[in-house]
Parts: sequence; C-alpha cells; structure tokens
Amino acid sequence: QFDTQAIQQLDSAHYLHPFTDHNALAARGARVMVKGDGIYLWDSDGHKILDAMSGLWCVNIGYGRTSMADAVYKQMQTLPFYNSFFNTTNLPAVQLAALLVDVSPPQFNHVFFTGSGSEANDTIVRMVRRYWELMGQSERHVIISRHNAYHGSTIAGVSLGGMAGMHAQGGPMVPGIVHIGQPSYLEGGSGMTPDEFGLVAAGWLEERIRELGPDNVAAFIGEPVQGAGGVIIPPPTYWPEIQRICDKYGILLIADEVICGFGRLGAWFGSTLLGIKPDLIAFAKGVTSGYIPLGGVLVGDRVAAVLTEKGGDFNHGFTYSGHPVACAAALENIRILRDEQLVEKVAQDTGPYLKQKFTALADHPLVGHADSCGFVAGLNLVRRKGATVHGNEVFDGDLGVGMICRGYMFERGIIMRAVGDRMIIAPPLVTTREQIDEMTGKIGAALDDTLAELRR
Ligand code: PLP
Repeated sequence: QFDTQAIQQLDSAHYLHPFTDHNALAARGARVMVKGDGIYLWDSDGHKILDAMSGLWCVNIGYGRTSMADAVYKQMQTLPFYNSFFNTTNLPAVQLAALLVDVSPPQFNHVFFTGSGSEANDTIVRMVRRYWELMGQSERHVIISRHNAYHGSTIAGVSLGGMAGMHAQGGPMVPGIVHIGQPSYLEGGSGMTPDEFGLVAAGWLEERIRELGPDNVAAFIGEPVQGAGGVIIPPPTYWPEIQRICDKYGILLIADEVICGFGRLGAWFGSTLLGIKPDLIAFAKGVTSGYIPLGGVLVGDRVAAVLTEKGGDFNHGFTYSGHPVACAAALENIRILRDEQLVEKVAQDTGPYLKQKFTALADHPLVGHADSCGFVAGLNLVRRKGATVHGNEVFDGDLGVGMICRGYMFERGIIMRAVGDRMIIAPPLVTTREQIDEMTGKIGAALDDTLAELRR
C-alpha cells in the first residue's frame, strides 16, 4: 500500500517536473504511477488506467515485459558500462548498430548513439554543419525547420523546434535555424484539396531556400507526422515534393523519427511510408520502448562517406553513447517487435481498425474532424460542426476545452493528450481490437461528459 499524500508532499517539495505548472500541480497533487502491464497503468490509489499515449509515445511493446528486465539484468551483471572513446567498443552496441542497419532503409549503414532524442537532434545540428565544412562549403550552415515542431529540450533541440512558448524562454536560441509553416490542412488548406495544399506547404520550403540563397542552406528537418505539435498528418503530396526540393538544391533531408520510428506509423520508419529518402534519421523512444533511455542518429551513406573518409575525428560524443545496458534493452525490444510482428499488425490489422473506430468519433457533436496514421490519431473539438472540414466553428482558445476533456478522460480511466483543442492518442503497438473498442468507448463517454459540462 502507498501513502499517496505523503508521496505527493515530497513530490511538490523537491521534484521539479518537466513542462509543468507547479502551482497547479501543488494544488492538485501529482498522480503517482506505480505499475504497468500491457497497455494499462495503475496509480497509488489502485485506479487502473488505459494508457492511450504509450507513456510519451514510447512504450511500443507495452509495459511489464520481463524479458526486457532479464536482458538488462544480464548486461548489468556482465558489463554495466564502458565507453567507445578510446578505440574501444562493446558487444551490445555493435550488435545493435548492425541490427538498426538491418531494419532501416537501405541508404543507412552507420549509427551514432546518444542518450535521448534531444541529444540526437543536437548531434544532427553539428553533424550536418561538419559535413558541409568537410565539403569545403562552411557557409552552408542554415537549417530550415517548421513552426510548431518539437525536436527536444536541449538548446539546439528547442531552437530546431518551432514552439513559440519554448522560444520565449531561456534564449537566445542557436543561430542559423529558421522556420516555415507546418503542413496542417485543417489550419491552412481552406479552399484547396489536401493534395493541392500539400504542394503549397512544401513550396514554402523552396521560397525560403531562395530567400536565404541555396548556398547558405545546410538541411531541412521535419517529423514525417508531427507528434507533439498535434498529430499533424501531412497530405500525401507533401513529403515527395519536399524531397524533390531538397534534391534540386542539394540540401540534406533530416527525418526526426523519434516518435515515428519503430512501428508507430505501421512501418519501421515513417519516412519510408511517406515516400522520402532522408540523409539522416533521429531516433529514440521506441528503440527501447522507453524501458531505458537511448537515442541516436542513423547516418546515411552520403554523410557517412564524408565523415569517415574526409573527417578523421568528429569531436562529438556522450558518456552514454552506445551504453551497453541501453543497447541490450534495444536489442531485446527489437526482437519483440519482430517476433510478434507488431509493425505488420499495425500496418495491416489494428491500424486500419483503429482508423475505422477512431474516425467514427467524428459523428460526435463535439468533434469536427478525426484522423489517424498507423497508431497515432487526433480529433478536433469544435463548438459547432460545419458542412465541411473547414466550416467548423472552433472554441475560443482560452476556454481550455481540450484540458477539460483530458480531465474527463482521466476520470474515465484513459490517458489522452490535449494539444489546444486537439485530443491525441498514440497507443502501444500491442493494443488489440478489443482494447481499441474499449479505448474508443471510453473516449466517447468522456466526450459526452465534456459536452454535458459545456452545456451546463
Ligand atoms: N523529437 C521528437 C519528434 C520528439 O517527440 C521528442 C520528444 O518527445 C524529441 C525529439 C526529444 O526526445 P527526448 O525527450 O528523448 O530528448
């Protein structure tokens, strides 16, 4: 048994939480999570909660896998740590590098390990600039990203990201990073078909390259499907056009697959699904299903050839690059993803089923639009539904309807995230059809609760 109040008091006395309003937290007390099994969590008061967010988009294989604990235990007993700085290496890191090359698109034959997704993106900033230095074009240093993107919380991650609320704090940001609009059809596509809008949104990249001068531009970075920005699923024309533009100007294409990688979209990597061939991929989260921190960069042949042949040493690395215990966890995680064919299941069975059940929520009077891609999905809460996707009347932003709805989801025993008035999910890849029924049933009930409160 747990003394929830005592834990909450200690928590608010000493623990600074990430991305948290501490006054609100102290008033309410943190919910203390104590156990996980499959797609469910339990809190210290014994409530069972369906985790439709896979923690933070990461617990792809579900909670409570004892084989993960065994793999970590075994590695800790044999070699808990060693570095790869002194012309040294370790077995799990080597095996994992080879396995990642095996499951990734064919242009990837090298891996650089980090401890997190933020560090992966920091590494990418330095790596692409180093690449152009070695190519004798060091003026090519500007990286183009997108508004509302999330690429991490280190200073380079925040600078790459396009979240206004983050840029407003702790600046100045890293120079040489600029942003274009995000491919959000709901926000920008009025009067256009999705395909037309996809080309328009990709065109913003070409406009910006021309403004900056192509000889100054190093790379473009984007998530295949933007996650924390609100599960923004781009129209099918968007990414192929981005690829065409990058190729035309010789600019490196970076896919941040920290969320999209390792099966989240029903493919090992989202870039394959969306028809692009990136030069670099940032990964983290799903590589270990969050059991142990690990991230990294898949380095495509174009960049790897220059770094290895011309580069000599790249003065960059982390104490925990290629951490043997984290790599052992990743090896076991990928074995599970493969043996249980979880990526294929999402692609062929549970992903399409989730789409069917989730998009049916658009019939609810509070929902203006619902969409999904593999195992990420989002719905927009609206004041009044219109005849078209763009004809809906939205709430005043400051009403906080999304947060009210999130509260009712919690009460109904399901975790869903609110990004403004867009409610999003990213369930574990092990979620079954029956559990999808349970999930959408709970979401429907919480939408009813929210509507009832708004009408009171
Ligand atoms: N990139 C994307 C797309 C993310 O969603 C995140 C985290 O949510 C990050 C990078 C940062 O990863 P980490 O929190 O492991 O540093």
